[in-house]
Amino acid sequence: MRARLVAGNWKMHGSLAANARLLDALKAGLEQAEGLGYAVCAPFPYLAQVSQALSGSRIAWGAQNVSEHDSGAYTGEVSGAMLKEFGCRFAIVGHSERRGLYGEGDSTVAAKFVAARRAGLMPILCIGETLEQRERGETENVVSRQLDAVLAAAEIAALADAVLAYEPVWAIGTGRNATPQQAQDVHAFIRARLGASDRALAANVTILYGGSVKPNNAPELFAMPDVDGGLIGGASLAAKDFIAICAAARR
Ligand code: PEP
Repeated sequence: MRARLVAGNWKMHGSLAANARLLDALKAGLEQAEGLGYAVCAPFPYLAQVSQALSGSRIAWGAQNVSEHDSGAYTGEVSGAMLKEFGCRFAIVGHSERRGLYGEGDSTVAAKFVAARRAGLMPILCIGETLEQRERGETENVVSRQLDAVLAAAEIAALADAVLAYEPVWAIGTGRNATPQQAQDVHAFIRARLGASDRALAANVTILYGGSVKPNNAPELFAMPDVDGGLIGGASLAAKDFIAICAAARR
């Protein structure tokens, strides 16, 4: 069975007090479920707190970004090795907010993916099209280009230790989710594209959907055969909502 995962992306939200309440509620509310993992991706300064709170629990944690460099004169950057020291299992790479607001292009995202793997982290590689690109019928070209940049920098085998997240940019933080069929179509396309290089790997790779997942739409999205869970932004900040979304990902 393919591994399923629900990961929260807290973005630039939180405080020591609010995080403590949220983490306590998640530890109490997230039940063991076969084949389903849980994770939260917190802002860098809170990783020590998250690691302390979640060590020994069934919830993993990760960062929202990682440097493409291992060390050096890169002011403001954080390396994969540093994240490992705080127990991170995951690092989000290529989130559309990093691509759009901070100018991260495909080659930078690919370098970050490779750096994360080098450090022993599991990258959560985000790919997805803008509304204009979808309306022009370019969705498959865009996700192919984003995926191919990573495949050019890493061996296909590196994808076996990674998680993909299809996140249509028009659905992120907008309250407008992709329909289950729209998500399924792109997930199946991504899996088929990987399958052209390695069929077995493609069948096993975890592909999350992200973009305005809420407790009310999660069951239908997660019921699609190629949707293996979700990357959850806004709703991951409310324990009740995140727990309900996680429950919808159980098989
Ligand atoms: C995200 O930040 O990756 C995301 C999917 O956000 P939201 O769930 O708020 O749309």
